[in-house]
Amino acid sequence: MKQHTPVTVIGLGLMGQALAGAFLRAGHPTTVWNRTAAKADALVSEGAALAPSARDALTAGPLVVLCVSDYTAVRALLDPLADTLNGRVLVNLTSGTSQDARDTAAWAARHGAAYLDGAILAVPPAIGTPDAILVHSGPGEAFEEYEDVLRALGESTLHLGEDPGLSSLYDTAVLALMWSILNGFLQGAALLGTAGVDASAFAPFAKRAAGTVTDWLAGYAEQIDAGAYPALDSTLDTHAAAMDHLVHESESLGVSAELPRFLNALAARALADGRGGDGYAAMIEQFRKPA
Ligand code: NAP
Repeated sequence: MKQHTPVTVIGLGLMGQALAGAFLRAGHPTTVWNRTAAKADALVSEGAALAPSARDALTAGPLVVLCVSDYTAVRALLDPLADTLNGRVLVNLTSGTSQDARDTAAWAARHGAAYLDGAILAVPPAIGTPDAILVHSGPGEAFEEYEDVLRALGESTLHLGEDPGLSSLYDTAVLALMWSILNGFLQGAALLGTAGVDASAFAPFAKRAAGTVTDWLAGYAEQIDAGAYPALDSTLDTHAAAMDHLVHESESLGVSAELPRFLNALAARALADGRGGDGYAAMIEQFRKPA
């Protein structure tokens, strides 16, 4: 158990400050650095050591956590300091694409660092609480070495596999789900709003519907993994007919029909592929290829 392990946090925006604060509260000696030094003030008053330069921060200890805006900022910061990386474990919690992660992992490996690419599925106030999920991918050995320290950021601190791109992929997959649920809710609220129904009145119905759909996911996942989509409840033909209603209702009420038309177009492609008698999971094939 690695208690009180020195850790460096580079990048003290809203998220970086939450990360450093959680390490401090867990008792880990925490060195911090930020381009705009004033953002370290509160952390320093809580006991963090402010490094005078990014180079000093990187060389303060073996474990470095990085959380800046994007990968352009990551490379702007790290490129001039590549000579300091040998033997360190670098945990990059900056959001990006899987390609960003794989490129940065290859770059870090060339400079002798063990590189874990992470993604934070939480907002800053959740950091250090059971609500925070943090996923990491890259060398399992490096994760195991510092797992107990990283767990200060959230109980659900997970290693997804050796491919450094996995964390970013999970992150974007979860975002795709989140925005789809939110957009569906907003479409419904806009439709009901035309009849003077408040979004607050719709919210309990939306919550139950979202729960019902959530309960379907494991079964659909099994069908997708098996590549067979028997219609256990309703067929894609039935879904497509209901999507037509959604398009016409939206158009006739004067609310945006863009999302309904998009859903309809996907379903039409599935029907054209002969999937009308299958269940909804057959739509995966439309997501696997560009239109
Ligand atoms: P933020 O408050 O805007 O902070 C951005 C940080 O990046 C600041 O420390 C900033 O330094 C630094 N930075 C930007 N460009 C830089 C450069 N060229 N050189 C050095 N430092 C640079 O953003 P945030 O909310 O902390 O988010 C940080 C990362 O966490 C992002 O990738 C974000 O997607 C991810 N994330 C955030 C949340 C969230 O809810 N906030 C949730 C999940 C993931 P200065 O202070 O000097 O500008």
